[in-house]
Amino acid sequence: MNVNRMDVGIVGGGAAGLSAAVTLGRARRSVLLVDGERPRNRFAPHMHGLLSRDGMPPLELLERGRAEARGYGVEIVQGEVDRVERVDGGFLVVGAGREVVVRRLIVATGLVDELPPVPGVDALWGTGAVACPYCDGWEVRDLPLGVLATSPMSVHQGQLLRQWTADLTVFGAVEAGVSAEGLRAFAARGIRLAPPALEVAGSFGNVTVRTEEGEHRVARVFVGARPRPADALLTSLGCASTENPHMGSMVVTDPTGLTSVDGVWAIGNVADPSALVPVALGAGVRAATTINMSLVEEEVASALAASAA
Ligand SMILES: Cc1cc2nc3c(=O)[nH]c(=O)nc-3n(C[C@H](O)[C@H](O)[C@H](O)COP(=O)(O)OP(=O)(O)OC[C@H]3O[C@@H](n4cnc5c(N)ncnc54)[C@H](O)[C@@H]3O)c2cc1C
Repeated sequence: MNVNRMDVGIVGGGAAGLSAAVTLGRARRSVLLVDGERPRNRFAPHMHGLLSRDGMPPLELLERGRAEARGYGVEIVQGEVDRVERVDGGFLVVGAGREVVVRRLIVATGLVDELPPVPGVDALWGTGAVACPYCDGWEVRDLPLGVLATSPMSVHQGQLLRQWTADLTVFGAVEAGVSAEGLRAFAARGIRLAPPALEVAGSFGNVTVRTEEGEHRVARVFVGARPRPADALLTSLGCASTENPHMGSMVVTDPTGLTSVDGVWAIGNVADPSALVPVALGAGVRAATTINMSLVEEEVASALAASAA
């Protein structure tokens, strides 16, 4: 295999990685982007909340993004990066049949949503079962909705959903550990409680939630999925992380996405599980402009050293 050198390597070509790639390509940097093409929102037929692209299928956004990035000279390879390691002059990126040394590394590998083990949730994920009311709430406003409580934090999801409908049932709140105060607050806002869901079935707009008490019909169920950042490459490089009681281990970054390892950025959902598509796009631009400046500074320093020699 040929080992060649490029300015920036990007692992992951979702909203965050592609956005960084376009900015770096336009800055005339040589960029390799390797992407497994499994974006988190691939289960959803439509995407909402992205200015001027409301309702666009998520995969279409990425297809257009790849075309734009290629137009600015970015090399895009489909596949998985298996390994990254620190080497002289940067980082070795290995995977998808390539071995490349890059001066800066962006990891934009997203996260995996760990779904509650309720039969039927997997099959409905992205259509009849969703997580984010900002993405999917407007389409079911005022309709009967359900929340499958998964932890004490489900108190927040229940109260948030009440903003979109007054016809709301929370399944399994007591069993998930919602506090007595949380249960009182549900009652105060007219939110009904029901036993835990044993199964969900149906399709978007017509979901049946089966409990020990019988069947409930709702337009959608909102689920507290547990985010699992795809951060194995970052931890293998020794990037520092912090323990979040609700989300688990999270890689620590500065506002530009720079990790504790010099030269390595983590952007989008891998570092920020709450980043929706527009936020992930913005994170890509911010990291890319910072990286480009850091490369310029390095080039100024070498030019000065060469001129002084
Ligand atoms: C069901 C659902 C619906 C949603 N709807 C909306 C919505 O309507 N509006 C909105 O704003 N947000 C929505 N979101 C959130 C949205 O999915 C995220 O904001 C967005 O995907 C974050 O982008 P990202 O680039 O960080 O990660 P991702 O889009 O997940 O991209 C990560 C990429 O990295 C690749 N990858 C991972 N590991 C490797 C590796 N080792 N080598 C190579 N490639 C790798 C993956 O294959 C993937 O292509 C939704 C989420 C879900 C779950």
